[in-house]
Amino acid sequence: MSKHKHRDRSWAPAPAPLPADAQVIDNHTHVASVVPFSRAMSHEAVEKGQDPVPVYSVDELLDQAAAVGVSGVIDSGCELPHLMTAVDMAREHDNVHAALAIHPNESVRHGHRAVPGPDGLPVRYQPWHDTSFEDALAEVERLARAYPRQVVAIGETGMDLFRTGEGAKEIQREAFRAHIALAKELGLPMQIHDRDAHREVIETLLADGAPERTVFHSYSGDAEMAEICREQGWYLSFSGTVSYKGNDGIRESLRIVGLDHAMVETDAPYLTPMPYRGRTNAPYLIPYTLQAMADALDLPLEEVARGTRATTREVYGV
Ligand SMILES: [Zn+2]
Repeated sequence: MSKHKHRDRSWAPAPAPLPADAQVIDNHTHVASVVPFSRAMSHEAVEKGQDPVPVYSVDELLDQAAAVGVSGVIDSGCELPHLMTAVDMAREHDNVHAALAIHPNESVRHGHRAVPGPDGLPVRYQPWHDTSFEDALAEVERLARAYPRQVVAIGETGMDLFRTGEGAKEIQREAFRAHIALAKELGLPMQIHDRDAHREVIETLLADGAPERTVFHSYSGDAEMAEICREQGWYLSFSGTVSYKGNDGIRESLRIVGLDHAMVETDAPYLTPMPYRGRTNAPYLIPYTLQAMADALDLPLEEVARGTRATTREVYGV
């Protein structure tokens, strides 16, 4: 089989740098996870007879981002062992801040609560899942209080009903409610993970009262949902999915809420923007997503960059 039939695992080329007066923040990413992810891509490439893929350190990934005008990131630590990783990154880098939570798919594993697992399959428990959900969330709260300069949000929390059974759904809902209460108590913004759970997430937010600054990370809803978000004053953060063919509803949603309620993110290492979908994502690829947003809004790239930057400052204070 010819080489080009294999999936390309190499890094996407760097986009043109954003102007100095239009720098942005990647408001939701997992930079620490990009390192092992790209190592796995490299191994896979070698196995397929391709060239190895360079494995960059966190510092190198941040430098590459800065070189194209992505001047900082908000890194989400959303599994118990990753909480401190995100806080440490933020302590070591002035341009890194942390968002902390127990991810919905993690919330069902803590204390071995979900039987069967969230995807109908046996749960893949890890040693840290021996910790109860309550104790795991207490660690989120402890770190948020101990490092107020570094921890700028609670997230990602929410609900993930992709292949999730009823039992897991209710456990997720309770975990989400506990995060909503915590974000409000701490006066922090909240980043929502909503996968196949639009109705449940909105119901829960309206029933409990959403935090003042509520962000749908990697927004995946349609125009109807965007209207609700606009009425409620909620924020939408757009990942590479805004550039994917067929996602007209996401682009329409951006037009509905407008730039003063829109932000940009990678959710790296996943959701790489077009035309590099399928490669490893990293914060330096943000300008491609901004371009897709600019096309959807029919505005210059610089204006979209400045708009999302201002929204990030308003929401997170960074
Ligand atoms: Zn994420």
